[in-house]
Amino acid sequence: MKWRGRRGSRNIEDRRGMGGTAQVGGLGLLAVVAIGYFLGVDLTPFLQGGGTLAPTGGGEITEADRQEGEFVSVTLADTEEVWDDLFRTQVGERYNPVTLVLYKGVTQSPCGGASGATGPFYCPGDSKVYLDTAFFTTLSRQLGAHGDFAAAYVVAHEVAHHVQNELGILGQANSIRQQVSEAESNAISVRIELQADCYSGIWAREAQARFGTLERGDIAEAINAARQIGDDTLQASAGRVPMPHTFTHGTSEQRQNWFLRGYESGDMRSCDTFSADRL
Ligand SMILES: [Zn+2]
Repeated sequence: MKWRGRRGSRNIEDRRGMGGTAQVGGLGLLAVVAIGYFLGVDLTPFLQGGGTLAPTGGGEITEADRQEGEFVSVTLADTEEVWDDLFRTQVGERYNPVTLVLYKGVTQSPCGGASGATGPFYCPGDSKVYLDTAFFTTLSRQLGAHGDFAAAYVVAHEVAHHVQNELGILGQANSIRQQVSEAESNAISVRIELQADCYSGIWAREAQARFGTLERGDIAEAINAARQIGDDTLQASAGRVPMPHTFTHGTSEQRQNWFLRGYESGDMRSCDTFSADRL
């Protein structure tokens, strides 16, 4: 992905270097796990399966942190231009860009405490994306999703949840989720997540069309990431037998397919996972 030297976003709230001493207690962590449907990646199998995640730790901002922050900022700026345009041309409304909180170690959100173990997520309570760039290391080293475009896909996926929130989809889906059984609620979560993957695909297509950001192998990196973070793959690599009724994000195959559907069509209507007979 070509991103160096390009414009960054103004909508970054940089909380790194703020000490990172705030404790995420058991309750805080549980709160984020409970709203796991907002995570780009469901790390619950790792938390329960005894797997370990890369340590994050607060403290000093390193050169690597600075570069990762810049990468996220450019990617976020790209999502702003693309979604601004898509809202105008496909929705007929104005797009309000999302704020992205960069943190290191731990931080608080209205959705609960965030830490390296929770992974990146979107909190509808304050309409912000929370991201510790240490997650990119987890993504590459532990989840097997290598490459910068895998990381860009994660950012695009979280921004896509904001798009769903702006469109009223997230609020509607979540109010239904509160009234149904856990298995039904999980099934709705899968539709939310796959739609976010499809929107991420649209973003990748538009980013290429506008900025020519894609390099050889980038789409393969995003597709591999979508595959590596499918619920069946995550549960299996955490040493468990995949249990479809517990899936909240979709299988590897579904995640790849919906990303590709968005990438190939560029049409938001093609991402209607809620009316799809087959996911
Ligand atoms: Zn998600």
